[in-house]
Amino acid sequence: HHPGIGAWMAKRRLKSADKTALVHGESTVTYGQLADGADRVSALLRQHGVGKGDAVAYLGENSPEFLQVMFGAVQLGAVFVPVNTRLAPPEIAHVLTDSAARLLIHDPEFGERVADAVGPAAATAQVIVTGEGTAHRPGLDQLLRTAIVQRLDVALSPDDPAAIVYTSGTTGKAKGAVLTHGNLTWVALNCIVDYDVVSTDVALMISPLFHVASLGMGALPIILKGATMVLEKGFEPGRALAQIQRHGVTMLSGVPTTYQLMADHPDWATTDLSTLTKLTCGGSAVPVRILNAYEERGLSFSQGYGMTEAAPSATALPPAMTRRKQGSVGLPHFFTEVRIADSTGAAAPAGTIGEIEIAGPNIFPGYHGLPAETAAAFTADGWYRSGDLGYLDADGYLYISGRLKDMIISGGENIYPPEVERLLNEVDGVTGAAVIGVPDARWGEVPWAILTVREGAAVDTDTVREFLDGRIARYKLPKNVVIVDELPRTASGKVRKTDLRARFGA
Ligand code: ATP
Ligand code: MG
Repeated sequence: HHPGIGAWMAKRRLKSADKTALVHGESTVTYGQLADGADRVSALLRQHGVGKGDAVAYLGENSPEFLQVMFGAVQLGAVFVPVNTRLAPPEIAHVLTDSAARLLIHDPEFGERVADAVGPAAATAQVIVTGEGTAHRPGLDQLLRTAIVQRLDVALSPDDPAAIVYTSGTTGKAKGAVLTHGNLTWVALNCIVDYDVVSTDVALMISPLFHVASLGMGALPIILKGATMVLEKGFEPGRALAQIQRHGVTMLSGVPTTYQLMADHPDWATTDLSTLTKLTCGGSAVPVRILNAYEERGLSFSQGYGMTEAAPSATALPPAMTRRKQGSVGLPHFFTEVRIADSTGAAAPAGTIGEIEIAGPNIFPGYHGLPAETAAAFTADGWYRSGDLGYLDADGYLYISGRLKDMIISGGENIYPPEVERLLNEVDGVTGAAVIGVPDARWGEVPWAILTVREGAAVDTDTVREFLDGRIARYKLPKNVVIVDELPRTASGKVRKTDLRARFGA
């Protein structure tokens, strides 16, 4: 018997109804209120013909409604589809059509983009806007007030889908990863165990909930423990610092850029950060200058590694090890396993770079509607092939070397772009760096560095090569340095190297 993650709300109402679940702006929502809201959403969804297995899409910023809709959907056996608010209409249309969402709920400010997207996505005929709406077209708040709550009696198995979450689309078109009730349960348990989440924790949610990291590693573990979330609609570094001090925030997670912006803010030095004990950072490698800025304030990061397909967390670095295992993304989670495969698929010995393979109850069963991609994503014995390269040290700590698709082979030598990018980020004046392979008659491929720089900074091929020379092998030195105004990035901020290769690779 497995009631699914939807049942967590009813359990929380029983165990801690009056506890503050959410702080949102000046208002607070208790677990009892959150659970009641979820029940009303379930009733409303039923009224709209949503049942077990039907997809419900949500396009909105962080708000209590986001979580009410998510739990309202999953406790009904429906499949929740969070949509990234930064997507353009054709990308939104792709998500709606691909997931066959029956219903879309969205914040009013996305009305225009939704109108542009829903035309092509004919499958999604029903659209509800959050807030009050109008007399002519009632919004979610109005509809929920009149919803008639009924008893839910839905039989679920851990293998039933709870969500379809789209990958970032860094290497191609975004794929819908199916995440089951079991996957989301286990990722939450992994995080509770490895990040020591307790019921007294106060987490500042500066990352959007539509990101699976914020959901799987933030909201779900916190709700499972009955802790408190301070939900921020967006990220503004000064406000984030103020909220940490005001609410005595203990937990914070983000990507390197968010941490960088906070450390660069004028209020950084004067903000009381003493309550912060759990800092996690993932998504891409954390530049050393950011690590140092936090260590100067007595704060250590727990870096992690994962992907949408792992719901999304696969490894975590214990904070006590950040110095000793500098550059590592840590150990596999408590209930998750990691191994390295060499080019033949055999287990690679410690210290040898190969493809990172992952197994565990948090690993997704497959991509929605993509059987060929799903088959290619698993080994014969059922491990997930991440498409990332890395190695384990003698103690079992994982180090990421970059994506398989981005590896450069120059004159028979392998070049892992992140290694070079880390150093490029240390060049004075450099604000962003991407290293790509460009075809070369003599060497097969040669590395180029595509950089963004501070205005007026004197950075060119010669100064960059001079800085790198002696720090890495000569074949890794970029043959050419190109300064651009902006690097092409995905909605989640990752550099689209495919675009860079198309632009400079010819
Ligand atoms: P797509 O699969 O659509 O091409 P994506 O892989 O970027 O996009 P996500 O699931 O959001 O989509 O990202 C997971 C990837 O991010 C990992 O496979 C890895 O390449 C990278 N990544 C995650 N954490 C780290 C980390 N700590 N250090 C370096 N890279 C990381
Ligand atoms: Mg991927």
